[in-house]
Amino acid sequence: MQLSVLGCGYLGAVHAVCMAEMGHEVIGIDVDAEKIKLLANGEAPFYEPQFDDYLQRNLAAGRLRFTTDPAELAAAQVHFIAVGTPQISGDYAADMSYVEAAVATLAKHVTDHPDGPVIVAGKSTVPVGSAERLAAMLEGTPATLMWNPEFLREGFAVDDTMKPDRIVYGVSDDVSRQIMDDVYRPLLDAGVPRLVMNYPTAELVKVAANSFLATKISFINAMAELCEATGADVTQLAEAIGYDDRIGKRFLRAGIGFGGGCLPKDIRAFMARARELEVDNALVFLREVDAINLRRRERAVELATELCGGRLGDRRIAVLGAAFKPDSDDVRDSPALDIATRLQMAGADVCAYDPAAGNALRALRPEMQVADSVLDAVSGAHVVMLLTEWDEFKELSPADLAPRVAELNIVDGRNVLVPQQWREAGWRYRGMGRPLEDPDE
Ligand code: NAD
Repeated sequence: MQLSVLGCGYLGAVHAVCMAEMGHEVIGIDVDAEKIKLLANGEAPFYEPQFDDYLQRNLAAGRLRFTTDPAELAAAQVHFIAVGTPQISGDYAADMSYVEAAVATLAKHVTDHPDGPVIVAGKSTVPVGSAERLAAMLEGTPATLMWNPEFLREGFAVDDTMKPDRIVYGVSDDVSRQIMDDVYRPLLDAGVPRLVMNYPTAELVKVAANSFLATKISFINAMAELCEATGADVTQLAEAIGYDDRIGKRFLRAGIGFGGGCLPKDIRAFMARARELEVDNALVFLREVDAINLRRRERAVELATELCGGRLGDRRIAVLGAAFKPDSDDVRDSPALDIATRLQMAGADVCAYDPAAGNALRALRPEMQVADSVLDAVSGAHVVMLLTEWDEFKELSPADLAPRVAELNIVDGRNVLVPQQWREAGWRYRGMGRPLEDPDE
């Protein structure tokens, strides 16, 4: 089938290459000429495992093209909207202007298609009620709107798109369902569950899922606060409660909390929408979820300050990790970046290293020192802070770092190191929600 994808960021570019991989003819459209140039040349504008291979293979096969010219979308029968819905500055609500601009572009350029009905499928995460409003913008054009929320995780985006755990259609008619079944035929044949519902339910599925995940993370981080006040160990607590399969072990890792371009802004936009709908009481708990999450960042700064003897001025701090999660270079609302910035503002001499997000970090924080390796970053450090759980950091040994640092202090912001190993090697180790238990304390 002939498809277009409007917006070629983390979601759209991955969706475009994966649709081409499934055999469709895909045209990716973005207003960012630089991004389109990179993609058209087979270069990934971001770090995502497997993405480069898929991109190059499908460009070479002639199934995939990229352009900034919206008029070219007319060739497609199904159009995906994958533009951003960031948080409005100074507000909790989502900025819908990019989605509205994309729908206006579609309304202008869609034409009848020789293969059958034309569908616009919204993938961006939008406030409930948006689809109905956007469908009205397409009235009088040959296109029908459906909402098809996306659940991919950065770092696993290609796999999640090729093997999703479910596909959701928010549709108003049966024809749209049939066309979308043709788009996703290889996935449906492989047994991926497909759920059909109305617009508001499909819109809510996405934000409800993200709210649940955020709540689970903040729950265990709230338990970490209790553990810190009582000498308990949150990693053991999480393991023990996780054996109950009604609770489960996943997403129960205490640390410096969640971040990225989705969870934080999605729960805030959900609260803003609930207020508009006059059901804000239903989501009051999300305010606490957000607050717990942000308190963990403060806690990491406190631990570093304490290890520096109460003052950060002139102390050198090595920050390992800048991306909001491993296997991504995305630094949007990254806890690691936020903590590094707070430390720097408190007077610390911060040197950061991230295996993939170095360039993003240099662009965003030109005043921050960015090293090219772990060993360079930790050189002369009074405290080492592990803030993104890249495999490279999980495998660090105390003996590798000891000769480089000024003092043997480590903050494990993701609880991925074995405390005993570091303490036995003479380090002062601090985790999140874990007892102190240093030999000298
Ligand atoms: P992004 O910022 O990486 O990409 C958005 C892209 O849209 C940018 O390249 C931008 O230039 C382009 N764009 C903006 N206006 C446009 C227009 N009028 N026409 C064409 N292109 C335009 O954002 P993202 O992370 O890919 O997220 C996109 C949407 O998907 C958001 O609503 C997000 O919440 C949702 N989502 C993201 C993920 C994820 O993991 N990143 C997962 C699920 C859902």
